[in-house]
Parts: sequence; structure tokens; C-alpha cells
Amino acid sequence: MLKKVQEHLPRQLLPAPDSITAFCHLIANWSQSELVLALTIDQQGNRAQIITTTSTSKFPNLEIVAPWRELVQGAVIDVLPFLKLPSIFFCLLNKVERIVYIPCGEPEDWCQGLLLVNPVADPLRQLTEQKGYIAALYRQLLIHHRQNQDSVIFEVQFQDIFDTVPLGLVLIKGDGSTAMVNSYAAQWLQLPAGSHPVQIVAEHMKQARQRCDNCDELVNLFQGLATNANFSAQGECRMGEKTFLIDTHPVRGDSRLGRVWILSDISDMRQREQALLALAWLDPLTGAFNRRFLLSRVEAYESQAATGGTLLTVMIFDIDHFKRINDTYGHDQGDVVLRTLAARAKQVLEGCQDGILVRWGGEEFVLLFFAAYADQARAVAEELCSVVRSQPVELADQQFLSVTISLGVTLFRVGEQVLSDSIPRADQALYQAKHGGRDRWVWA
Ligand code: GH3
Ligand code: MG
Ligand code: MG
Repeated sequence: MLKKVQEHLPRQLLPAPDSITAFCHLIANWSQSELVLALTIDQQGNRAQIITTTSTSKFPNLEIVAPWRELVQGAVIDVLPFLKLPSIFFCLLNKVERIVYIPCGEPEDWCQGLLLVNPVADPLRQLTEQKGYIAALYRQLLIHHRQNQDSVIFEVQFQDIFDTVPLGLVLIKGDGSTAMVNSYAAQWLQLPAGSHPVQIVAEHMKQARQRCDNCDELVNLFQGLATNANFSAQGECRMGEKTFLIDTHPVRGDSRLGRVWILSDISDMRQREQALLALAWLDPLTGAFNRRFLLSRVEAYESQAATGGTLLTVMIFDIDHFKRINDTYGHDQGDVVLRTLAARAKQVLEGCQDGILVRWGGEEFVLLFFAAYADQARAVAEELCSVVRSQPVELADQQFLSVTISLGVTLFRVGEQVLSDSIPRADQALYQAKHGGRDRWVWA
């Protein structure tokens, strides 16, 4: 970044002739000097840096080493006896006969000054008389120079941050004419980075919104923008695996109300959240939901069922003779059976509205879904039993094991509770299925 600042400085601060260079020329004419240099002297008083000169040839960026602290005590001084000039001076001038230094600050601010090379004979008295005016004028110019420099540095720094920050930024000017788009936002908007007419940026924003999976939601969210200059909102755009946080609010720029759009990629954060949710809500062995998840969702299922229209189906199944499987093939193979049956049950549920599979206990699973009519619920129960029966589970060493389940199924009745009424009723039906000979479903 510093390099960038330096690249900007000579161009922006010292256009030829800028106010300080012009002032040096004025002093050079007035004192009939061959060369005038504007200097700034370091805090230790050892080195002077050249700000600008009246030289028409390019003057190098060099330091003039001298015991400036001892030399410069506020008086105009003939410094030739003390000062060894760098050789560049001798390339520019035939000979150096006299050098006069005019300190341009008050004693506590003595680190600024003008160096006059070869002024006409004996200007010390005249310069001493005028020193106060010269210094006052020069100080004023320096103040402007510094302000200029600060604002250029600020602008360069701002531009640098604007271009490199890992955020999409769009800055709309207060007069609403143009919008500045940084490179990150440019990718998102499919536009070159830089300044564009607001209408173009708005059109690209619209297109970017349309590329989002939740386009309608975003259109709704940012609706107020058209009518309210103070509008601010924050929302999420989803594009496949990616999630972006998008924020807009008004900003005051040139004393008028502009606007900023900030876009940040929060995909990693969302993925971590999903992973945490999975840890909190999923059974690690089977990938089915756990009881905690069912507890968190059951009320939503109940209230949706209460609004009518669809039938909340509640099923519970238990693997038949699972102890035997464990005893015969080992606990690990029992786990394989659990995982396989859970996957089959999930597949069957895919065709059902809002279907969820919950690992209710060791080898008991609860299923919830909405059915359009009771026969659909029966058909799912039948399908589940038959899928398990007809597709033996592949164990290690390519052994195939026939497995069956017993299942109880019921419909949620308005006014009751899934956990304390429907599931126990389905469980009773499961009990009957076991007693009826297993590998079957019973309706309750
Ligand atoms: P039934 O047909 O009457 O259901 O007979 P069953 O042998 O399946 O009897 P039950 O349902 O009571 O058996 C539960 C068994 O499930 C007991 C337990 O060792 C086993 N089990 C529970 N959780 C796990 C598990 O995570 N992995 C394995 N491999 N077995 C489990
Ligand atoms: Mg059991
Ligand atoms: Mg069992």
C-alpha cells in the first residue's frame, strides 16, 4: 500500500509548479538565487529532506546531512561553512558560493525551512527583515500541502481497502448518479470493477438477485428501497452451496444521502452451523433424526395437522428378533442392519409430505408424515414392511440377511398430542403386530 501512496504523491501533491514550488520560485526571483529548496528537517535535527525545488531538472529524492539542530536556531543563517552538499548540486550549478537557510517555523516548529543556493551578495540583512512574512506565508502553504497530502493518502488508503477487503462493496453517491463497485462485488454483479451509472448497477443487482435460489424472498426484503431513502435491511442470498449476507443502509457522503451495499460470503459459517445442528439433531449411527429433534418439531406438526386438509400419520416400527441378529452376527453387523433399514425407511419417506424418520430407541423408529387420505398412510406402511422383507441386508463378507419389521400405524387426531397419545397408540398397534406373528403392520 505504501508503494501505492508514493506512486500517487508526486503526481497528486506536487504538480509542477504546485503552490510550494511556486513560492520557492518567488523567493528565488526575489533573492536572485540560482536554486531554492523547500526542506523538512527530521526530529533529531540531523537530516533534511527536500520537499520541492526550483530546479528544472529532476531533483533526486535525497537527504542533506548536517547538524541542523545547531545551525538552525530561528535566525536566517549563512550555512555554507557547515554544510557539505551532495554532488548533485555541482551537476546543476557551476559552483556553490553561498547557501542561506531561512527557518520557516516558530522555534518549536523549526523543522521546516527554505534553502537558498547562491543568492545575490549579502541577502542576510534583507532576508532577516522579511523572514517573518516569508515564514508565515510558507507555513500556510505547508498546512495546505499537508492537508492535501493527508486527503490523498486517505483516498489512496480508502481505495486500497475498498479494492482488497474480502467483502463486496457498492457505494452509491449522494446525488444518485454513479455507484462505485469494488472487485469482489464486481464478480457478483458480473460487471467490471469501478464507477458505473446507478441504473446499470441496479440492473445488474436485479439480475444477481434473480440468480439466487431465494429470489422471491429477496425481492420482498428489499421492496422498501424504491420508496424510502432511509431504507436499511439485511438478508441472506442462497446460491447452491453458497450463502451470502447482504446488507444495505444509507450513508452520508458529500452531505447528501448515499447508500452502501455490503456483501459477505458466510457459507463457511452456515456450513459449520449445519454441522452443529446435525450433531445436535441427528443420530450418528443411522443418520435418522433423534428424539430431541422430534420434540422440537412436534408442535409444528400438530398445528399443521389441526388446520385440516392433510392427515398426520404416525408410525413406529421395531426390527424383529434383533437380539438374535446381534447374537448371531455380532453387534457391529447389528449396526449395519440398523443403518440399512434407516436408509430404506428414508427412501420410502421421500415420496411423503414432510416425512421424518426418528430413531426412537435402540432399534425402534418413529415416522411422521402427512398423507392426503388414510389409504395413503396404509400404503406407506405396507411398502415399508415389504421393502424390508424383500431386500435382504448386505452384511460384511457379502452375506445377505433377511430381516423383517413389525409396525404400528395411526393417524393423529385433532386435540390430542403426538407424544402422549398418537405414538403410544401406534406403539400398541406395534405390540399387536408382534403378537400377531411379526413382519406385518397393524392399524390403530
Ligand atoms: P422383537 O422381535 O420382539 O422386537 O425381538 P428383539 O430381539 O428385536 O427384541 P428387542 O426389540 O427388545 O431387542 C432390542 C435389541 O436391540 C437389544 C439391544 O441389544 C439391541 N440394540 C439396541 N440398540 C442397538 C444398537 O445401537 N446396535 C445394535 N447392534 N444393537 C442394538
Ligand atoms: Mg425393540
Ligand atoms: Mg425388536
